Amino acid sequence: MEELTIDAAICSDYERLLKESQRGLVAWRERSEEVSRFGLQGKNIGDELQKLQADYAAAYHRLEQHGKTCILCQFTIGLTENEAPSSVFISPRRELPA
Ligand SMILES: [Zn+2]
Repeated sequence: MEELTIDAAICSDYERLLKESQRGLVAWRERSEEVSRFGLQGKNIGDELQKLQADYAAAYHRLEQHGKTCILCQFTIGLTENEAPSSVFISPRRELPA
């Protein structure tokens, strides 16, 4: 009788992409919080936040695409479908001063 060792089968590409998207999310949220805490305003701030958001969205998209095409990931993610990876996507508060 064979047993599959799922823990050992973590895709390194997935891990890397996950870290990238998490880093993007953190950078975006931290900056958003700074902006609302200090009441920062202006076009530059808006542009910067948009860029951070776009970076995160791109990284998340890559992660998602990888999950759809990688056989190893489909196997491992399929098992935890209910908890991940949609919970990674958290919308930050959009409270930019006009
Ligand atoms: Zn993979």
